Amino acid sequence: MGGHWFTEKQTENFGITIKINRTLHTEQTEFQKLDMVETEEFGNMLLLDGMVMTSQRDEFVYHEMVAHVPLFTHPNPENVLVVGGGDGGVIREIMKHPSVKKATLVDIDGKVIEYSKKYLPEIAGELENERVEVKVGDGFMHIAKSDNEYDVIMVDSTEPVGPAVNLFSKGFYAGISKALKEDGIFVAQSDNPWFTPELIQNVQRDVREIFPITRLYTANIPTYPSGLWTFTIGSKKYDPLEVSEERFHEIETKYYTKELHKAAFVLPKFVADLIK
Ligand code: SAM
Repeated sequence: MGGHWFTEKQTENFGITIKINRTLHTEQTEFQKLDMVETEEFGNMLLLDGMVMTSQRDEFVYHEMVAHVPLFTHPNPENVLVVGGGDGGVIREIMKHPSVKKATLVDIDGKVIEYSKKYLPEIAGELENERVEVKVGDGFMHIAKSDNEYDVIMVDSTEPVGPAVNLFSKGFYAGISKALKEDGIFVAQSDNPWFTPELIQNVQRDVREIFPITRLYTANIPTYPSGLWTFTIGSKKYDPLEVSEERFHEIETKYYTKELHKAAFVLPKFVADLIK
């Protein structure tokens, strides 16, 4: 008995509904409403502004697919930047790559980091790794100040509302290009094709104008609206579809495999049509 049903509305007529056993923490931070809740099906879950960010049960899909696709595409990723990602999941996956000497995480909201460490320890655990530097600040400003520094940049942001609006702009992608080395690669989560097709189209259009290689791939994430999630890659030199077999080394994963690395770029026709 007990608990209540929470709905994240995607449109006026559609949402996803999850049973919450109890609220572990709730707070209006300087930037967003933060709720950490315990759910019946998906374990502890982080909500920001009423939107599901991550859950203990399905987080591995998103975090593995953000991190490993660009890291296996680049032949020698040493210096990596994560914009957003304060729950630490992407950093945990990056740390599985021995070539990475340093990973910097820049999240605008220190409270996300603090409460993820407390209630999502298996996701946030590697934030303490000595190869990781955690900064609290605006990712847009950090990118604007960076020049020819990073091999790989990963944008693990909230949706384009509130503090993340600037992270979905052509100016931001131009800044990312400047912040990357001459053979750098970046990935950004780009929402879902069912309810936000224009967002995917806009991101593809902007990234194509800046990067010679632009790709879209998908993953299946049950707690995100529609379940079908997209990621956009912009690359200066290396094509994620042309990664040679010997580049893949053994790592422990639950979703990503070297076969899936390529298969994820095979798009359902309605998604392929969106970005023609
Ligand atoms: N995986 C989630 C999703 O797609 O629903 C997003 C993960 S959540 C950890 C995203 C993070 O982006 C939040 O912690 C938020 O504070 C951060 N963020 C939003 N705007 C930002 C900005 N301008 N600079 C840096 N971090 C930002």
